[in-house]
Amino acid sequence: MERLDQLYEGKAKRVYRTDDERFLVVEYKDDATAFNGQKRGTIVGKGAVNNRMSNVLMRYLESNGVPTHLVEELSERETLVYAVQIIPLEVIVRNVAAGSFAKRCGIDEGRVLDRPTIEFSYKNDELGDPLINAYHAKALGLASDDEIEEVKRLAFRINDLLREFWLSCGITLVDFKLEFGRTDDGTVILADEISPDTSRLWDAETGERLDKDRFRRDLGGVEEAYVEAMRRVRDRLEEGGEAL
Ligand code: UDP
Repeated sequence: MERLDQLYEGKAKRVYRTDDERFLVVEYKDDATAFNGQKRGTIVGKGAVNNRMSNVLMRYLESNGVPTHLVEELSERETLVYAVQIIPLEVIVRNVAAGSFAKRCGIDEGRVLDRPTIEFSYKNDELGDPLINAYHAKALGLASDDEIEEVKRLAFRINDLLREFWLSCGITLVDFKLEFGRTDDGTVILADEISPDTSRLWDAETGERLDKDRFRRDLGGVEEAYVEAMRRVRDRLEEGGEAL
């Protein structure tokens, strides 16, 4: 598979065409942004961690019946994925109140929710990814009824699987963001990434944050947090005798 011209450059990744239109190459960068691009910086080594972690987690999800865009890790920062049409929704699943949810609802960060919850944002940088509901998504033609149902089903299933995985690494999965794509035959599959950029990961004992909140909130130890989260994933796989 040959990597061809760049199709798109996002905040944390570049996407390239390949000589086979069914596939794209994703390249993970060390660039970090927060607050809709207002805060910018670099997290050295982040691209390599996010590439590897996202692939490990997607492979784990695949082995548990969740369809994903992952085809093959090509290098430290590059992965071959299926080309899909991205459904323009940021799908956020929460187990513990944090971030914008805690603020919006006036509750303390860290309150364990009675049950996991889901919300949608309209993926639109100019508008700052506004919160919308499923009716809005359907009314705007962003996704069909069936697609919304499938997105919800997959998102909660992914939450169950990832929660268990992270707990076995000594980490509480507080919340995370997913993006889904539709394939040519209309199947909804998981796309984008799963990493400390897109998930809140708290040490299960101490509550220490091992995710992008260290960058957003200037907590220090940003690089170390990404490396530590990845180390725990690696240890967990080695314990289970699984290859990375
Ligand atoms: N998130 C993300 N991209 C976004 C917004 C949120 O990956 O554009 C992730 C974020 O890392 C967190 C979860 O989604 O794990 C919930 O984020 P929240 O809505 O609390 O927003 P924030 O407080 O990060 O602005």
